[in-house]
Order: sequence, then C-alpha cells, then structure tokens
Amino acid sequence: MIPREDNMNRQRKRRRVARFLLLLFFLLLGGVALAGLKPSQSTLSLPLTAPKDELAPVPVIASVTAKETKIKVLIDAGHGGKDPGAVGNDGKMEKDYTLSMAKKVYELLKKDPQYEPKLTRQDDVFVELEERAEIANEWNAAVFISIHGNTYSDPSVSGTETYYRYDNSKALAESIHKHVVETLKFRNRAVREGHLRVLTFSSVPSTLVEIGYLTNPKEEARMLSEDGQARAAQAIVDGIRQYVAGLE
Ligand SMILES: [Zn+2]
Repeated sequence: MIPREDNMNRQRKRRRVARFLLLLFFLLLGGVALAGLKPSQSTLSLPLTAPKDELAPVPVIASVTAKETKIKVLIDAGHGGKDPGAVGNDGKMEKDYTLSMAKKVYELLKKDPQYEPKLTRQDDVFVELEERAEIANEWNAAVFISIHGNTYSDPSVSGTETYYRYDNSKALAESIHKHVVETLKFRNRAVREGHLRVLTFSSVPSTLVEIGYLTNPKEEARMLSEDGQARAAQAIVDGIRQYVAGLE
C-alpha cells in the first residue's frame, strides 16, 4: 500500500509528465507540419534569393528514384579475349557463343520497362571472374546470370546444367534451368551447387547456366543456330521473370 502524501506527489508528478509529453507531442507535430510545408515554401521563396539553377536538380532526383525501382539484371557472357573458353566441335569458340547469347538476353530485357539489363562485357575482351562478380555486387543487381557453353572430351556427352553457390541463388538457378531445359529439350543434367569463382565472389542472387555441350555435334548445331539462340535467350528471360514474380 502507498502512503497518501506520496500518492498525491505521484499524481502531481504524473500530471506534470503528462503536460510535458503533450507539449512535446505538439512541438513534434509542428515540426512535421513545417517539414511538410518546406518544399512548397522554398519553391515560392527561393527564386527571389537563389539563382534559378539551384532549383533545377529536383526533377533529376525524381527520375533517379524512378529508375531505382527497375529490376537490375547483370548478364555475363562467359570468357572473352585471351580466354576462349570451350572450343566447339567445328572449332567455334565458347566466348563468341556466350557473347551472342548475352546480347540477345540483354535486348529482350531492354524492351521491358520493368527491367534494367547490363552486360559485363560487350565485345571480345577479357574480364577477371572476380571483377564480374564485383560489378554485380557494386551495382546491386537483383539477378546475376553468367552464360556458358559446356565442353567434354567425349562428344556423346550432352545436356543443360545450372549452378548456384549460395542459398540466396537456388530459386533463381532452378527457374532458369527449368525454362532452358523445357525450351531446348537437351538432357536435364540438373541444378547443382558449384564452387565457381564467379558465383563465390558474388553476394547477389547469381547463377551460371551451361546451356549445352558445344562438343556434342547435335547440341552445338542447335546452340549456334539463330533459332536456337533466340529460343534459349527467351527461355532465360522467362526464367528470370518467373523468379522475380516469386519474390513479390
Ligand atoms: Zn564456360
């Protein structure tokens, strides 16, 4: 039980605290209201005091903000420059195949205002694997896809395989793999966890797809054909779209 005097003191104290809180609340409310008014006030008053140029950045900031909402997709054409990658059945190089594919994926995504695609290389140049991953990290890509063509000493070996390194990338790898396998109908060599440098150094959702075997004559012909590339690129885009839809 609490003595009466103490009780009175407590009540007075409580009322004082309540008044203080009420005052604080109104001060804050006033602050918020003033902050809300500030832009329109400054647009009214600034032209009188500041040069016109100082008002110009406003629309620029607005457009940058709008861009940030786009889905950033970094497309990596495997190999390049001094690194030819696999050499196909008829001497064609993997680095040329991957660049052609990457550009097709880029063009398809570019048509969609929801997406902002970017290439790690646009021509026959060598880019370090760590650097490719770093571009993805620094740009903060929503999706990072590295495109490859496979190779093996036995030309009968065939099929599509897709890699991921960390758990944040498994759903992306699975979605792209599914669409590529369904479209090209190459042997399904499954989605695998792989310690590949380009994936290991990337912290954003990343996958590496080996579309098929360039050392397998049948797959190579399909992979190098215009129709085969157009379909494979569309399958990759469909895979990206399905993955993105799953995030929402
Ligand atoms: Zn490769």
